[in-house]
Amino acid sequence: MNITDKFSRKLRDVRISVTDRCNFRCAYCMPKEVFDSNYKFFKKKEILSFEEIIRLTKILASLGVRKVRLTGGEPLLRNNIHALIENIKNIDGITDISMTTNGVLLTEKKALTLKNSGLDRITISLDSLSIERFGSISGSKYAPKDVLSGVDNAKKAGFKNIKINMVVKKDVNDHDILPMLDHFYGSGCIVRFIEFMDVGNVNFWNKEQVTSLDNIIHIISNKYEVRPMKKNYNSEVAKRWSYSGGEFGIISSISNPFCGDCSRIRLTAEGKLFTCLFADKSYDIKSLVRSPRSDSEIQKYLIEMWSQRDDRYSEERVTNRNYKVIKKAEMSYIGG
Ligand code: SAM
Ligand code: SF4
Ligand code: SF4
Repeated sequence: MNITDKFSRKLRDVRISVTDRCNFRCAYCMPKEVFDSNYKFFKKKEILSFEEIIRLTKILASLGVRKVRLTGGEPLLRNNIHALIENIKNIDGITDISMTTNGVLLTEKKALTLKNSGLDRITISLDSLSIERFGSISGSKYAPKDVLSGVDNAKKAGFKNIKINMVVKKDVNDHDILPMLDHFYGSGCIVRFIEFMDVGNVNFWNKEQVTSLDNIIHIISNKYEVRPMKKNYNSEVAKRWSYSGGEFGIISSISNPFCGDCSRIRLTAEGKLFTCLFADKSYDIKSLVRSPRSDSEIQKYLIEMWSQRDDRYSEERVTNRNYKVIKKAEMSYIGG
């Protein structure tokens, strides 16, 4: 079944946050001052079990979802994540399952287990190759080499076209753009530069700190000849470019919003559904899943929810004068 929202957008992708916990404290996502030892993360019984996630994914697949991305928090902190992947892979209609991870727990064994369980694609986040900047941005005890060994392990396990996500903040790591492309030159990995986004309420987002797509292209063009590439599919979030070392992408939700083709729904670890990354409203699907409701009752609820969807936050960001006061979900909670 295909369902459409108020702007005729189909439901095609789900991003599932499997945990709200993380072994990093990236300043733009989980600033240390907020996510400290007093912070109350969800207890085990509060988060969706694998069975609950699988049931919901089956229902979503019956409504047109084809692609699943596992995220978090840090998804590799969730025990036996490969078992979830195996089950999702077997759901009728699901054609692609991927994961976004900070990569430091991606040992050789783990990467192989993920590959063998059916994970199709992997995205690894890395904001700088400098030990100092990586340390201060990630707020962790890890170093870039730990992430790079995760990338190598993913390659060894057979993952192709590995994506490397780099959030770019002006005057923080914009001078790492070229070193990053140089490092991954000819490697087959696709670096994706992400404009620093105003997700959540605690990352002190400020427009002045955004290095826009135009700025990024300008920086890269000083060294490489770049050419725009065609989209792989309509709802693709990254704009694609080629350079002599391969391909790179830019996710420019601030300077070039892409709400028009947005076919994504987001499921949080504690079982809330969001129809937009920036929504202030969510749908408590866990209560339904833990009630005696049947699959077809939940399906009906989801059809109604999607038909009411009129989110286009990034496009409205420019015109909606009140957007700053909206209470948004934090990135580590909603999963990016
Ligand atoms: N922990 C995993 C990781 O970092 O890859 C997965 C979850 S993380 C929330 C998903 C992606 O969101 C990461 O690539 C991260 O860099 C990105 N991200 C987090 N906060 C962001 C922000 N304020 N602006 C842009 N991207 C952000
Ligand atoms: Fe953790 Fe990923 Fe957020 Fe960094 S971006 S704090 S690694 S969830
Ligand atoms: Fe989709 Fe919302 Fe992002 Fe627009 S702002 S692309 S509707 S998630």
